[in-house]
Amino acid sequence: MSAETPRRPYHRHIEGPDARRCPRCGEVKPIATFTLPSGRVQGHCRECRLAVTQEWRARHHDELLQRRRASYPKADPTRSYGARNRQGTR
Ligand SMILES: [Zn+2]
Repeated sequence: MSAETPRRPYHRHIEGPDARRCPRCGEVKPIATFTLPSGRVQGHCRECRLAVTQEWRARHHDELLQRRRASYPKADPTRSYGARNRQGTR
C-alpha cells in the first residue's frame, strides 16, 4: 500500500538546524548567512556570494562596460562633456 520510501529532506543539517556549511569557504555559519531577505536559502554564505559576484564583475568588467555603452548610445558622457566643454571654454 503505502510502501513508498519517504523522501529525504533536500538540505542536510551538518551542524544542527540553524547552521550550514558553505561549500566555498568550508566554514560552518548560521543559516541566516545563507538566507536572502526574500527568505530563499542560497548555497553559499553571504561573504562568498559577494566574493563570487565581485570576481565575476572583475572578470566581465570590459564586457559590462561595452554592453552599457551599447545599450545607452545617447548617454555617452565623453561626447556631451566634450561638446559642452568646447562651447564653454571658447
Ligand atoms: Zn562561504
